[in-house]
Amino acid sequence: MLNWIEINKNAYLNNVSVFRKLHPDSLFMAVIKSNAYGHGLKESAEILRGQADWFGVNSIAEALILRDFDQKTPILVMGMEDPLHYSLLKEKKSQGIRLVLSTKDSVEDLLKTSPETPFHIKVDTGMSRLGLHGRELEDLFQYLKNNPDLPWEGLMSHFANVEDVTDQNFAQEQLRRFLEAKKLAMESAGNRNIISHIAASAAAIILPESRMDMCRIGISLYGFWPSRQTRISASSLYKNLPELMPVLSWKSRIVHLNQIPANSFVGYGCTERVFRDTLVAVIPAGYFEGYDRSLSSRSHILVKGMRARILGRVCMNMIMADVSHIDGVKHGDEAVLIGRQNEEEISADELADHARTINYEIVSRIQCDIPRKIV
Ligand SMILES: *Cc1c(COP(=O)(O)O)cnc(C)c1O
Repeated sequence: MLNWIEINKNAYLNNVSVFRKLHPDSLFMAVIKSNAYGHGLKESAEILRGQADWFGVNSIAEALILRDFDQKTPILVMGMEDPLHYSLLKEKKSQGIRLVLSTKDSVEDLLKTSPETPFHIKVDTGMSRLGLHGRELEDLFQYLKNNPDLPWEGLMSHFANVEDVTDQNFAQEQLRRFLEAKKLAMESAGNRNIISHIAASAAAIILPESRMDMCRIGISLYGFWPSRQTRISASSLYKNLPELMPVLSWKSRIVHLNQIPANSFVGYGCTERVFRDTLVAVIPAGYFEGYDRSLSSRSHILVKGMRARILGRVCMNMIMADVSHIDGVKHGDEAVLIGRQNEEEISADELADHARTINYEIVSRIQCDIPRKIV
């Protein structure tokens, strides 16, 4: 195999137990949308089956794939769906799938097509993305009050600004708005039991008062801190920081070695030039595979436990790395793009810094077709 992703089962289970201990009184939702942030939906479902109280995904299509591996755990579809797809929810296989809805129209569409499907109402508390607020939200609650037989199951919102700051004023205001909405919701719900949830990873870690009935854990389930700021905030909150373990490694192999003389150029655009005799290793992963082009000439890979810098531009399906300083490099040697090799490690956080993005994007863009192996 020339390219594969290793999924560390123990790391996964460790991270689940970190959150179980952190919020013992709230349900644990494993957010495994977007191919489980690149970790493989199938492989993740196999490991997390029986571990998570709920699963969170983006689409009905993802929920249906998940159903092949786990018929029991409730699945919440959190993204916006085409109402034409609601008919899929009538099928027997869709048992246990529920939707997040943001408008009265979508509640009515769902009732027309699949009246048994439970739904959660989304409140916009400051993200200005999905959800209702103000008058429209009150109208929807009134409608739900007038229709007490509907399978209304939950109330949710999403924070806009927990990860990017150490000062949580904006989040506190969102929480205040959510509690206000919750009060109205409870009045409209009568004796229905409504599950309230707003916290994703960062809030679950650093805003205990936001945990409520359920925490929706994505990025930290995979062993990442949501941001540096979150880690800093956590270190003032806890004596011992939660020990998150990265789940994913990206491995590949040297498919070609090319000894080039001093003053040669490397790669497209001749953006890189070597000033000594150089041994170039070619690795069969490029931006198509999810290795960002902005890592050109910046990032490293690991070969024989040593760092090798990327030379020149990341190509569509290949990268070149300088392995001149590494003894005994051979064709077929393992190369680590993300993960550990001996004492060295390349983290998704490091690549995110080089690519001026976040760890979320680095892992979720690793191409779906690359095989995921559970180790
Ligand atoms: C993706 C997502 C989450 C998970 O967020 P993390 O920061 O990865 O933990 C939670 N809630 C919603 C609505 C999401 O879309």
